[in-house]
Formats: sequence, structure tokens, C-alpha cells
Amino acid sequence: MTTSEFKHVTYSWDDAVAAELDAVGRLIYRSNLLGADGRITNTGGGNTSAKLTEADPITGEKVEVLWVKGSGGDLRTSKRENFSNLYQAKLLSLQSLYAKAENSGPKTEAEDKMVALCAQTTFNLNPRASSIDTPLHSFVPFKHVDHTHPNAVIALAASKDGEALTKEIYGDDVIWTPWQRPGFELGLVLQDVVKAHPQARGVILGGHGLINWADDDKACYELSLELIEKAARFIESKDKGDNTFGGAKYQSLDEAARRAQLIEILPWLRGQVSQKQRFIGTIQDDEKTLRFVNSADAPRLAELGTSCPDHFLRTKIKPLYIDWNPQTEDGAALKAKLTAGLEQYRADYAAYYESCKRADSPAMRDPNPTVILIPGLGLIAWGKDKSESRVTAEFYGCAIEVMRGAEAISSYQALPQQEAFDIEYWLLEEAKLQRMPKEKELARQVIAVIGAG
Ligand SMILES: [Zn+2]
Repeated sequence: MTTSEFKHVTYSWDDAVAAELDAVGRLIYRSNLLGADGRITNTGGGNTSAKLTEADPITGEKVEVLWVKGSGGDLRTSKRENFSNLYQAKLLSLQSLYAKAENSGPKTEAEDKMVALCAQTTFNLNPRASSIDTPLHSFVPFKHVDHTHPNAVIALAASKDGEALTKEIYGDDVIWTPWQRPGFELGLVLQDVVKAHPQARGVILGGHGLINWADDDKACYELSLELIEKAARFIESKDKGDNTFGGAKYQSLDEAARRAQLIEILPWLRGQVSQKQRFIGTIQDDEKTLRFVNSADAPRLAELGTSCPDHFLRTKIKPLYIDWNPQTEDGAALKAKLTAGLEQYRADYAAYYESCKRADSPAMRDPNPTVILIPGLGLIAWGKDKSESRVTAEFYGCAIEVMRGAEAISSYQALPQQEAFDIEYWLLEEAKLQRMPKEKELARQVIAVIGAG
């Protein structure tokens, strides 16, 4: 594919810029380019790596070092300090240690222990905590690896016929793997895929996203774009037009009417969802969001929930959809439906927690929704601050695109509840939450209003 042919992603590689950079600088450059296009990956989502040869600080010997985006941070804004670097040989040696573990396999303590041991492979005292995805990058035997969450590819990854469609779109170039929680075992799966399919250049991670590789960094970047472009074109060829999401059931209110309705309900609604902890809301009412919330299929699809783990960690297992008719019902009816909807949502969330919890699961978190969908108005996303609520809104926007694509080419499938729960309440995720800086004393309490005078 030549660079001018990309329609669904932005090609930004500039040889002149890359030529000025050292090897790590080129990895950062590639990461920033991938992260800058929301169709390639979501905010904070995905990671990149390069296996470079460096001198060991003690022996001076040349060793292979894996530079991989560390835990937290965002590809678009990543700098050198956002990458961890690890001895590749030591990472590989974890496999023989793991093989000796008595009770191993996906989601075992032995598996989680391997992720913790990755920190022991640190090269040159780099303090950046390594990501849960480190084994995915280490065990793929190519110099450069990109892992992204493109909406078009997740649509394929969350399709009922994902495996057959992967074959149809990519032939033998890209291999399908069923959903598996990220971690050491998924790294081993990828290693086996590469062994069994030496011609493969990438993998569709079922229910999750894309991973692809090359021995040259520019080739790896171009391959990421090419694979995403192919999925997006396939979806475009099956686009359902006006019948997307089963067609429109309701019409959007015009912007002034939307604003008036939101002004009427938002202060009250914020109080309703903030009973446990205070939230800030972000309204999203662009064309794509409105088409979804107004559609005939919105209640069915909303109930299924989101798919990519990155998405549902913010959007929760599912949003709250309110079946309010913006053409015939008033604000009082909307409030009554929101009250009943919130009550039902909290009960559903508690039931989900009770039915999926394990002996060592952390306590149930706030059962209020973080995303509320209202026909005619759009979506309201909630977070501890403006930035978190904005990202939650972005992620549900991604989920809408994923569902649109999946329903165009097949039918959308969310992750099974237990799998979603095992991510949401994963002890390693809990540890990540605990590591976050403690909120400031007046966080969630003070809002600055600018330009209101
Ligand atoms: Zn991922």
C-alpha cells in the first residue's frame, strides 16, 4: 500500500525527521505518530517496543535490550522516561521458571507472579514500571512490535465471525487468536502463533485489538497502518447507511433544545450519580453519538456492554440507556426515568459483582454508571475530574464505532461478564489503582468557572 492510499488513518512518517534520531528516539517518534491518530489507538491505549543492542553497564558486553512503553502514560505524548528497558535474555528466561511452576495457566497466581518478575529484568536501573503487556512484546521474535486498539480492528475482534472474517480480510498475513486476558500466557500464545505461522505479520487479539511486527521500525509503523486501513475499508464496503444500528427510532433535539434540557437536568443528575463519590460530567453529542443513542438497536447494544479492556475499565461493564422519547416526553418524565434507571443499574451492578466475585476479589466499587445514554440529547460521561470524564466519553465513542463496524460486517459480541469482571477486579489492576497518587484534599470539591462574568 503506498502512503497516499490511506483513507482511514493518517500517514505521518517523515524520513528526514527519523534520520536525525537515535534508536530510542525513533521508537518514541513512531509511538507519538501512532498515538496521535485516535483511529489507531485510544488515549492511554496500546504500546510499542524495540529490541536494541546496548552495552551492559557492568561488563560492557553487547546485550539485547527490550525498550517497551511502560505502565501508564499515552503513546501520543510518550517521552523517553515513559519507556521501560529490560534485558531481553532475562525476560525469555522467565519462561523456563514458569514452566516449573506447579499450578500455572491463564489467570493463576503463577502467571501474575511472572508479570511482577519482569521488574527484576530491568536494564540500567530504569525506574519506569513495566507494562502488563511486556511479555507480548518480548516473546514475539521480531525487532519492532506495535500493539494498538484501533476501532476498525476491535470491530473485527468483537464480531461473532471474527475468525472467518480475519481470514477473508488478511489471508495468511494476520492470524486470529481468541480472547485472552493480557499477561504472560498471552505472550506465550503469540510466541506459538509466530512459530506455527512463520509468514504471519500480525495477530487479531479477540475482543481486544491488534498486534503486529517487523524487523524495521518504519516497516512496522506502515504495517500497523496498512492492517487498520484494510479492516476499515472492509467495514466501509459493508456499511449499512441509514439502517446502521437498525435505523433511527428517535430524532435529535436541535442544539438549543438539547442545551436547555441538559441545563434542566444536569445539576440534579450529577447529585444522583455522586452519592458515593463526586463526579464531573462531559457531554458528547456529535453526529455519531446522536445516531447511536437515537437508534432502534441502542438499548440492545448498550446492554451488551463494551469490549476492549481499555474501554470497559472506564465505561464500566455497560452504560445506562434511558428510553426517553425526546419528541413526546418532557423533562419531568426524563427525571423519573433516570431515577428508575439508576436504581436498576445499581442493582444490576451489585448482582454482576455478586455472581462473578472470587474469594480474593477487592470490595465492590461504586455501582453508579459512568456513561448515560439519552435519545435526542447524546451521552453524558462521569469521572473524578474533567480529564477522566472526557476520556470516558472518548472511550464510549470508540465503543460506538466498534459496535457500528461489528454490526456492519457480522454481529457485535461483548466479552463474557466473568471475563470482564476478572479484568475489572484483577488484583494487578487494583494494585495499579493503589499506586495512583492520592487525590488532593479538595479534589472533586472545587470548580473554576471562567468567562461567566
Ligand atoms: Zn491492549
